[in-house]
Amino acid sequence: MDDISITSKPDEASGTLTHSPALPNTRKVYVKTYGCQMNVYDSQRMTDSLAAEGYSPTDTADDADLVLINTCHIREKASEKLYSALGRLRKMKDARAKEGRELTVGVAGCVAQAEGDEITRRAPVVDLVVGPQTYHRLPQALARVRQGERVVETEYAIEDKFDHLPAPAIEQTRSRGVTAFVTVQEGCDKFCTFCVVPYTRGSEISRPVAQIVREAEKLAEAGVRELTLLGQNVNAWHGEGADGREWGLGELLYRLAEIPGIARLRYVTSHPRDMDDTLINAHRDLPMLMPYLHLPVQSGSDRILKAMNRKHSGADYLRLIDRIRSARSDIALSGDFIVGFPGETEEDFEATMQIVRDVTYAAAYSFKYSPRPGTPGADMENHVEEAVKDDRLQRLQSLLSEQQYAFQRSLIGKSMDVLIEKAGRLPGQMVGRSPWLQPVIIDVHGDRIGDIIHVRIIDTGTNSLIGVREMNSASNGTITG
Ligand code: SAM
Ligand code: SF4
Repeated sequence: MDDISITSKPDEASGTLTHSPALPNTRKVYVKTYGCQMNVYDSQRMTDSLAAEGYSPTDTADDADLVLINTCHIREKASEKLYSALGRLRKMKDARAKEGRELTVGVAGCVAQAEGDEITRRAPVVDLVVGPQTYHRLPQALARVRQGERVVETEYAIEDKFDHLPAPAIEQTRSRGVTAFVTVQEGCDKFCTFCVVPYTRGSEISRPVAQIVREAEKLAEAGVRELTLLGQNVNAWHGEGADGREWGLGELLYRLAEIPGIARLRYVTSHPRDMDDTLINAHRDLPMLMPYLHLPVQSGSDRILKAMNRKHSGADYLRLIDRIRSARSDIALSGDFIVGFPGETEEDFEATMQIVRDVTYAAAYSFKYSPRPGTPGADMENHVEEAVKDDRLQRLQSLLSEQQYAFQRSLIGKSMDVLIEKAGRLPGQMVGRSPWLQPVIIDVHGDRIGDIIHVRIIDTGTNSLIGVREMNSASNGTITG
């Protein structure tokens, strides 16, 4: 199996699911995760629910009884990866059968939702297909597989899966480290013409405040210091607040900032249309809200933004960036870009290059447009040739890399707070996280994982910073020259 895997180690069951009685903890599950942070979060929650069924995790498919592939459908390459992984699993399953051993293979995530039983037709090695809205039914689905059924569970469930997914055991949370994801919002009603999310994740839903706060408090009790709130459109989150008023993401962040133990907050991914005043003010008022915002613009050309149905112009985006920077001057931006959307001319592409120059990004993700079946973009005329897409992507990426490198270099000589996350490769070395998400390599002096320490940056690696510990006190997220 290749890249992007998560390792999750459930120890014991906790939660509300009914599960098979007295199952010994002898079966092993290997979960392979493709795609975004939400898939990482979902894989953890699936692992938590399988712990209740007696499955302990393993880092390799070789000794697993169950292999679950959590898929991404956002670009074509992502689903190709699924079918090549399934080809390897078919060989493994055949070899096992000769030894009289079993292997159960499941496919979860957005490809599961989009392709459903097409997956079992194309890859008969698959025993189970489960869409993102039905993860809480995974144990029951597996029980049916054990009865010899081939199961496809992709109907949108009427019940809220978050009410039914078991919380992780405290040891499990601890083993996952001092940073954690919490999904607060799922799905999307924006229907950008290039994007499959509204079809695979369904329409927008927001988790209730009390449920989110409870999950955050449990994570804090287990030692988590940094929370990243997740949503396909996270800043569209809304719900009834503790005061009976309708809250947006800004109000939710103010509430989460009160939880003892939580020292850092982040959220991803935001849509420019949903950045309201309260959310922008939260960046001004909450030092624990990290000064790093992922705010995709996709294109700098108004003509292409209209064709993409983004519902904002390049000028709207630039005005928004000004407001955010006025609220928090040290904020750094990251973004997503698509090159070669149908009809994109050289002039449109130049507008994208210009918006990148105008904003200056600290980091960014850029992609060639990939037509997704069932989305309006796929049926548009004037698709751009691959060679042209390649050329534009290369030019855009070289500009973005220059900006990223300049941002990294600008931090040399500055002091900042660093959250220590794990041991480094050399003795006495630790790896922490800067306010802007870069790994920071530091020699420590009695500091422990979970501590936030003051660090002066002395050099940079390709994607990391190298720092030395400072003994003075720290203040979250700000830098001093
Ligand atoms: N909700 C976010 C937003 O509105 O920007 C983005 C979510 S999407 C999961 C992540 C990124 O994948 C998008 O921002 C876009 O740049 C990229 N993406 C989505 N569909 C794509 C496609 N068909 N081809 C290429 N890139 C795509
Ligand atoms: Fe996809 Fe984001 Fe557009 Fe929703 S807002 S359709 S998730 S790109």
